[in-house]
Amino acid sequence: MKDFGFTVIKQRTIDYDQFDGRLLNYILEMEPSFKVCLSCGGCTATCSAGDLVSFNIRRLNLMLRRGETVELESEIKKCMLCGKCQLVCPRGINLRNVIMLIKKSVAKHQTVNS
Ligand code: SF4
Ligand code: SF4
Repeated sequence: MKDFGFTVIKQRTIDYDQFDGRLLNYILEMEPSFKVCLSCGGCTATCSAGDLVSFNIRRLNLMLRRGETVELESEIKKCMLCGKCQLVCPRGINLRNVIMLIKKSVAKHQTVNS
């Protein structure tokens, strides 16, 4: 097959019949500041882990909101909890707490279909 230098990503439509929002609801309940994220990407741009490995904190947010807990559990391990993302967040979101909550609770909110 000819290499055009890009690939077509697989469809990412959320199937609401399969969607399991338990982890998302738990995080939003425990850290309500996360509700006001505007997806500006400031956290991702400043992330220490993202400088060293393939890691994108904004993508984690999307995984959480899509109920993709298996991928989330694997990705969150790359965070070093340095807190730089929190310092730059224009909404003052307590991102370290969000990350800690995900680390602690993702395994018990694992879904079969994620
Ligand atoms: S910097 Fe704050 S508002 Fe912006 S994407 Fe990150 S968490 Fe959301
Ligand atoms: S706490 Fe984690 S996500 Fe935030 S800047 Fe540091 S390594 Fe990145």
